Amino acid sequence: MSEARRSIVIKLSEAAKLAGRDESDITLIAVSKQQPDERIEKSLASGQRIFGENRVQEAFERWQDRKLEYPKLELHLIGPLQSNKAQAAVALFDVIHTVDRPKIATALAREMTVAGRSLPCFIQVNTGEEDQKAGIAPNELERFLTFCRDEAGLQIVGLMCIPPIDEEPAMHFALLKKLADRHSLPQISMGMSSDFDTAIRFGATHIRVGSAFFGERPPRP
Ligand SMILES: *Cc1c(COP(=O)(O)O)cnc(C)c1O
Repeated sequence: MSEARRSIVIKLSEAAKLAGRDESDITLIAVSKQQPDERIEKSLASGQRIFGENRVQEAFERWQDRKLEYPKLELHLIGPLQSNKAQAAVALFDVIHTVDRPKIATALAREMTVAGRSLPCFIQVNTGEEDQKAGIAPNELERFLTFCRDEAGLQIVGLMCIPPIDEEPAMHFALLKKLADRHSLPQISMGMSSDFDTAIRFGATHIRVGSAFFGERPPRP
């Protein structure tokens, strides 16, 4: 196991223990966006198989050949999706974390039907109600969840959030957990490099860790 991965796995397991949770209930998603090939290869060699990406095209370039080489790969889309990329997203990814509006829900559902795949999906919630951020507002979640399930026919397994950068993440994690419980959604995608231990304390089942896992991201060209 690589040094970085080992230290995250240790932190994950300590946070789980502190929270009285079973660490096997927490999935570590290694966020590989922008990372150089040699780090990707090292992580694969160390046994990591679950990765997150936030751009469909970039993910394609990085993973389409590796998917053939590593049949157990599990790819999570964690960035905003445009409906014209829904087909490509459904072909490449195994889990979608960013369903946040009816148009995307409908497009994903249609492409899943065509492809004969039913991918587990998370609804992204804009817990900080930030104008520029993707996600459904907390007070619209119930209606949107009903739409996703009953009209689009998506398999909604949980909720996802990205807290505002300038606020204490704990209150956002607590809100997401409360919303998930209220709607009996078992999975919660929250927590990144700087706050995944807090997220675990508040019930995260999927943590999305990039720079702490691979090292700082080089800037996009
Ligand atoms: C980039 C990204 C992450 C990982 O961020 P780090 O701070 O590098 O851990 C997690 N979630 C989303 C949605 C991201 O875009």
